[in-house]
Amino acid sequence: LSKSKGRNRYEFFSFSMEEQALGKRRLTEELRQAIKSEQFQLFYQPIVNIDGNQLKKVEALIRWNHPKWGLIEPNDFIPVAEESGLIVEIGNWVRQQVIADAIEFYQLQGTVIQISVNTSPTEIDRSGKWIDQWILDCNKSKLPHGAFLIEVTENTLMTPDSSIKQQLKLLNNNGIKVAIDDFGVGYSSLAYLQELDIDIIKIDRSFITNITTNESSVALVKAIITMAHNIGVQVVAEGIESRAQQLLLKQLSCDYLQGFMFSTPLTKADFCRQYLQSNIEPKQSKGH
Ligand code: C2E
Ligand code: MG
Ligand code: MG
Repeated sequence: LSKSKGRNRYEFFSFSMEEQALGKRRLTEELRQAIKSEQFQLFYQPIVNIDGNQLKKVEALIRWNHPKWGLIEPNDFIPVAEESGLIVEIGNWVRQQVIADAIEFYQLQGTVIQISVNTSPTEIDRSGKWIDQWILDCNKSKLPHGAFLIEVTENTLMTPDSSIKQQLKLLNNNGIKVAIDDFGVGYSSLAYLQELDIDIIKIDRSFITNITTNESSVALVKAIITMAHNIGVQVVAEGIESRAQQLLLKQLSCDYLQGFMFSTPLTKADFCRQYLQSNIEPKQSKGH
């Protein structure tokens, strides 16, 4: 077992290679237990306007708070959860928690801050149960339309299951917006995107990382933004870590930015303290 200082100031537990190989079954058992005793926690990462001085949306990111191991990042357990099918129950917990938090944020702020929620391809089932629950719980919450943005990956969209398209339409008709996460790494065709009710495209961090040094990355990001705007879709760039990246994305008419430069994912308490009770100014622009 090892503890590593994560990308941000929270300490993350990380699994060694041997543990990964040996421990899939063990991990699945631990996850089952984690669901029962609700060992999960949502962190919140701000999504800001292009100038970086206004909070526009926020992404909910799950962490597993294990009683012995401490905080575990999603990349260390979501794949196992997907493989074992436990992701469905985790997704249920995320939905309920994020709606409860959204109600709290709304009461604090008086206006809606759209919360972006991740989903795995295997969560959205043929039976329509997943979507029914989202619609039902959203209606119960009495939050205004647009309070939630469901992030799906290109993989989700590329399944041969044609009901996905209808399900996304249904979400939209019920005031739940849809975003494509990690855009650019999959194989979705532009023609296909146009047929879907998509609100936001999130450009994958891998294209943003070297945007200031690699001309082909610039060309690609520029093409994605132009294409998105042409079909009436807005764009979030993920993984902004420098002012140079921000300026370049501004030149390319990107709509929103998300990244450590503005804020790492925060606990709910920190997010509320830093963003909701202080005129929604990101902490950066206040000089601390
Ligand atoms: P994602 O949805 O693409 O989320 C963005 C990831 O990039 C987050 O990692 C975030 O902490 C990280 N990030 C944001 N800005 C920067 C930056 O400037 N630099 C760098 N290096 N990283 C940045 P995280 O929280 O570890 O989440 C990883 C992935 O786990 C997510 O990628 C998402 O696919 C998945 N995930 C997270 N929460 C959930 C959930 O509730 N349900 C499901 N099914 N998947 C989730
Ligand atoms: Mg995401
Ligand atoms: Mg992403």
